[in-house]
Amino acid sequence: MRPPALNPLFAPITSLPGVGPKIAALFRRLLPEGDGDMPAVVDLLFHLPTGLIDRRHRPKVRDALAGDLATMLVTVEEHRAPPPGRSRAPYRVVVSDESGSMTIVFFNAQPRWVAGVLPLGKSVWVSGKVEMYDGMLQIVHPDHIVAEDEAERLPEVEPVYPLTAGLTLRGVSKSVRAAVDRVPALPEWQRSDVLRQHHWRSFSAALTALHLPQRAEDLEPESPALARLAYDEILAGQVALSLTRSRLRKVAGMARKGDGRIVRSILAGLPFELTAAQQAALTEVEADLAAPERMLRLLQGDVGSGKTVIGLLAMARVIETGAQCALMAPTEILARQHHATLGKLAAGSGLRIGLLTGREKGRARDQILVAAAEGYLDILVGTHALFEQHVGFRDLGLAVIDEQHRFGVHQRLSLAAKGRAVDMLVMTATPIPRTLLLTHYGDMDVTRIAEKPPGRQAIETRLVSQERLPEVIAALGRTISQGNRVYWVCPLVEDSETVDVVSVGERFASLDKAFPGQVGLVHGQLSGADKDAAMQAFVEGRTAILVATTVIEVGVDVPEASVIVIENAERFGLAQLHQLRGRVGRGTSASACLLLYGAQLSENARSRLQTMRETDDGFRIAEEDLKLRGGGEVLGTRQSGTPEFRVARLESHLDLVEEARQDARLLLDQDPSLETARGQAVRILLQLFRRDSAMALLGAG
Ligand code: ADP
Ligand code: MG
Repeated sequence: MRPPALNPLFAPITSLPGVGPKIAALFRRLLPEGDGDMPAVVDLLFHLPTGLIDRRHRPKVRDALAGDLATMLVTVEEHRAPPPGRSRAPYRVVVSDESGSMTIVFFNAQPRWVAGVLPLGKSVWVSGKVEMYDGMLQIVHPDHIVAEDEAERLPEVEPVYPLTAGLTLRGVSKSVRAAVDRVPALPEWQRSDVLRQHHWRSFSAALTALHLPQRAEDLEPESPALARLAYDEILAGQVALSLTRSRLRKVAGMARKGDGRIVRSILAGLPFELTAAQQAALTEVEADLAAPERMLRLLQGDVGSGKTVIGLLAMARVIETGAQCALMAPTEILARQHHATLGKLAAGSGLRIGLLTGREKGRARDQILVAAAEGYLDILVGTHALFEQHVGFRDLGLAVIDEQHRFGVHQRLSLAAKGRAVDMLVMTATPIPRTLLLTHYGDMDVTRIAEKPPGRQAIETRLVSQERLPEVIAALGRTISQGNRVYWVCPLVEDSETVDVVSVGERFASLDKAFPGQVGLVHGQLSGADKDAAMQAFVEGRTAILVATTVIEVGVDVPEASVIVIENAERFGLAQLHQLRGRVGRGTSASACLLLYGAQLSENARSRLQTMRETDDGFRIAEEDLKLRGGGEVLGTRQSGTPEFRVARLESHLDLVEEARQDARLLLDQDPSLETARGQAVRILLQLFRRDSAMALLGAG
């Protein structure tokens, strides 16, 4: 598949000079293919510099200041090797110019090497960080030492790369340079009018410009080189999404028109009327289901907007046609909750609903698997366990996926493969800014539920200094004595990281002392059964305060909970705070969200907390979050293995996203199998940005 010319780029990085298995292992931490296979040379290309070292400051010795990065022309005066037997002592070399003298210091240096680079009596350029030691200027291990007559080897500016412990800047620069040198002549995949309009040069010229920057501006998002590569990357993403989309659509869908029998019985049993927004969403979904094309729809609605019931009604439609449905949740707690909620909402409709998570084992598990495979279940609710190979259905018609950004496209495809022309409904409470919709969900149609069910109380959000903790605890006493329930959220802390952050365990202990027997605890380390037990006790009101990590972030529904306290709120992202806050205000009593903050608040953190106080508009919060943190954080995909952008910075490259989307559409309209010359070049682009798994879909037609 891959043109042979690309082979050097797809060789493992150990094929680069100076990169052995040890260095490669360190690179693995730095590059996105990090935890999987060995990174390839191509992965280094997009390891871009984050700044510049400027070596143009060339003072006389007398004028150099401690702390300066200075480059000086000096004469070597004297070598002071460590005394025999004290090889740990530094090796000092005295150098001078007409203005004064200073010392060059080496630790653990080979005397022969030092003598070679700094020969007595010779003029050399030395460049490095100047320090003051014992009243004498010195440079320890200069970055560069170059003989006067080889001055051209001294760079004026040098790129700075992100590093990890064990890798040196010089080593990384060298490897990256070698990788860039391997880029062969490639056919141009961008349209010439686009290149002309933006004043962009070729892919390899752009790479060279970024890895050999001359000025700080060369690394700005607006620089032509960075913009060109960002556009390349975004276009690769858009083409990949379009290919997935057309592939999913091409498999003829099925027109699923139920007779409305089950839908009506569920509606009749609901204790509420659908809101207009829910009704509109349902109509769209039903139209999709009834159409002969495959449904691929994202249902977006703020927490508490009532997506679950729409999911259920969509499933009911499909079940009316005799098919089955799957509902996927990202966590076990949520899967269990969905299972319970659906059971309640669908009571009396006769739907048979099963549950499959990692915790169903042995005979119980086998029974569920058999029931799904033979059609004795209408709906199977579950976690990732549903993706497993041996999970099968008699006739899977619709997969509903909750909070799908935690799953990848592959997992979506694998669910789709468990039936014929499976329709997909993806639900998310993450308000997704339009840019991210295009870059991450460009393959889907979107429905938004922009209205909340009536009777919801506004949530009062307050910022409270951590020092006022005793008052907060006293106020909680009053709240729970009135029969309300309280979430208390602590950030997940990796041990030893900071001392000023309380762990859930400590907080649980102190609250349990204040309110004996009324406090529960959930966090990720608990066993599934213990988590459930703690959740259940809170749901039933046997405990009034639930101390938790963000495991309660998505979806958990306890209408009696009216207060949420978020400790060290400055450590959470905006989207996450918004999700957490959505855990309250779901019932009829007035609700509050207390954001406790620690002593040192960064500017950025303060601005996040302010935003939380000012608005509860999820979409505004999401736009803010995108500006403050970038795309991967907003979607929470950072840990989920979804490809992230390495070059593009969505907050700066918004316009390019729209342009690339149209470009990709046009390209695939004219050349759906990427056969033309440009199509072939775009295939190379997909490979370079590792979006080529989408190309497999071309063959599979
Ligand atoms: P989401 O999943 O969108 O966050 P849910 O589906 O969990 O929201 O709904 C939140 C709560 O609102 C649930 O208790 C649900 O029963 C209730 N609800 C849903 N739709 C309505 C409605 N139209 N009127 C009143 N309550 C509703
Ligand atoms: Mg939900």
